[in-house]
Amino acid sequence: MTGTHSFHPTVLREYDIRGIVGTTLTEADARAVGRAFGTVVVRGGGTSACVGYDGRLSSPALEAAMVEGLASTGLKVFRIGLGPTPMLYFATRDLNADAGVMITGSHNPPEYNGIKMMLGKGPVYGTMIQELGRIAGAGDYAVGAGSSERIDVQDRYVERLLKDYDGTRDLKVAWDAGNGASGEILRRLTAKLPGTHVLLFDEIDGTFPNHHPDPTVEKNLVDLKKAVAEHGCDIGIGFDGDGDRIGAIDHLGRVVWGDQLVAIYASDVLKAHPGATIIADVKTSQTVFDEIARHGGTPLMWKTGHSLLKAKMAEVGSPLAGEMSGHIFFADKWYGFDDALYCAVRLIGLVSKLGVPLSELRDRLPAVVNTPETRFQVSEERKFQVVEEVRARLQAEGADVNGIDGVRVNTPDGWWLLRASNTQDVLVARAEAPSQEKLERLKATLVEQLKKSGLAEPSFEGGGH
Ligand SMILES: [Zn+2]
Repeated sequence: MTGTHSFHPTVLREYDIRGIVGTTLTEADARAVGRAFGTVVVRGGGTSACVGYDGRLSSPALEAAMVEGLASTGLKVFRIGLGPTPMLYFATRDLNADAGVMITGSHNPPEYNGIKMMLGKGPVYGTMIQELGRIAGAGDYAVGAGSSERIDVQDRYVERLLKDYDGTRDLKVAWDAGNGASGEILRRLTAKLPGTHVLLFDEIDGTFPNHHPDPTVEKNLVDLKKAVAEHGCDIGIGFDGDGDRIGAIDHLGRVVWGDQLVAIYASDVLKAHPGATIIADVKTSQTVFDEIARHGGTPLMWKTGHSLLKAKMAEVGSPLAGEMSGHIFFADKWYGFDDALYCAVRLIGLVSKLGVPLSELRDRLPAVVNTPETRFQVSEERKFQVVEEVRARLQAEGADVNGIDGVRVNTPDGWWLLRASNTQDVLVARAEAPSQEKLERLKATLVEQLKKSGLAEPSFEGGGH
């Protein structure tokens, strides 16, 4: 194979490669990514890579092209087959491979697909992804006699998940795999996990016939809530399409959001790691940071983006990190990557051994009122400018601004956030206060700032937490 390759300008993104299959993302693209990424691995002294794929209809063909591209650079390729993204991460660790590649469209509509990569133990993102475009554009590929073989890690992965279950009484749990890539592993896991398990949509089906596989959008949790109520379950757990994000429901049918889960896990993890740094993203409720501190931990607010959190966690040696989106990372007993199946095992174990319902753990966080994560469209050129304009005005006023990712503004009423998405042409806003009256004042301040930058008022519809 020779020649140069150029990608559609939209597919090489901040955290992954993603496009519409057959239009902006083709098998030729997957092969070129394999050649470019394989080149990076080989030139870095690596000799092997694992490849996995999700349940989308287009995934097997993209996987085959990826394997071909990687092997052409001289790598030994381990094909671990169909499963969730965290199983690929696990396989890469378990087989001691130098890199991992997952073909997955995550929670996106069926016509999408994408590629997530890890190099060594860390995520591939930002400039490293742009570098792949440069290598392919120049046709600057390593060439070697590689190989590929199929390796089934499913049993070892399930055994490893089960190893950290520490519950002491049986619970009843409803699960919704959303017809995503976790279905088969979920069946094997729940067959061995203590308790009673009600499984929804565990058939892997890339057309997603029941609901969109994104458990952080409340309308996708309707079936799970119904199952929790009908079967009298203690907990409901949902996964996104590739199993790296978790959603949870208490027995009253209320959502326990990703940031709240971090606070709940922190109370457990800090017993084993007193004083440890626990990281949560900039959209996280102040109550979560306060709860981490209350348990003797050192809370750290960091930028939104699963790759960024993962990297920060490794840098500071944190045993737990998470974000509102449901990406939660355990380095306590686990490997530091985001695995929703593992998070589920830890959550069930925690609720089981504490002997208190998840609803009570959730209600230990002080009651606050907040907006949901509110996204509104702005042009790609304006999104970072607007945040900078707001920051400059606030600083001129002497406001208390945390600039870790956008502007997170602390006021006597509470806090509000405005940040530019790294992956879409949207701005993200959120606000939180101890009372509705104070929240309205925060929202008014935020709207005023947007108007000063020439933007329309966003709609803060929907309940927060
Ligand atoms: Zn995902």
